[in-house]
Amino acid sequence: MAKTYSIAIDGPAGAGKSTIARRLAKELGFYYVDTGAIYRTVAYFMDLLGISPKDVDGVERYIDELTITIEYDEEGAQHMIMNGMDVTGDIRTQDISQKASLVSAHRVVRDVLLEMQRDVAKRHNVIMDGRDIGTVVLPKANVKIYLTADPQVRAKRRYDELIAKGQKADLPRILKEIQQRDYQDTHREIAPLNQAKDAVLVDTSELDIDGVVAAIRTIVKEKIAL
Ligand code: C5P
Repeated sequence: MAKTYSIAIDGPAGAGKSTIARRLAKELGFYYVDTGAIYRTVAYFMDLLGISPKDVDGVERYIDELTITIEYDEEGAQHMIMNGMDVTGDIRTQDISQKASLVSAHRVVRDVLLEMQRDVAKRHNVIMDGRDIGTVVLPKANVKIYLTADPQVRAKRRYDELIAKGQKADLPRILKEIQQRDYQDTHREIAPLNQAKDAVLVDTSELDIDGVVAAIRTIVKEKIAL
């Protein structure tokens, strides 16, 4: 099998990981893998079955009934297929964000998803974003970036996104949910969110998207000869 390259981008919610990873993947011709969407699909599936994301026994009992496939459309956008059904649009709610954070703390969930993520990276050049890509999923990634920003800045970005879509948004509530998710993701026992020792820290609080993409492009070009 030909050698593949991998770029790991980790960081908290709202740091800009997916926007930046998607842009760079397009430029480089790499697959973009949004791993948060996989955890969201697990949370959505359990939710449909009425299983609490905290109920480890329930989650363990039903996880084998779930088959997740990742597909890409002609524009390169990632689609999440849950037992044959495209749920890409259903997993992007605040409720599923919180439930994904809770369900992702269970070992059984992380073990199943770990194999799936490594398998994609074995077969393709990837930019993978998540919480534990550089630390656990792809510890030998060619490039590791830890992308972060102030919680207030991240909450405001999410608020602006919802307003632009014509949806209702409550800034203090969004900030509270972001802080709660940060806490859960950094304090869980298995694969908590933290910066890998060999990851480059990029703080996006004061940078726009073009600035961040340019900074990361430079880092990538130093490490991968494409
Ligand atoms: O990135 P996104 O906000 O879609 O992730 C949803 C949740 O999935 C996160 O809050 C986190 O708890 C979990 N997650 C994870 N490991 C990853 C990606 C996401 O635990 N690699």
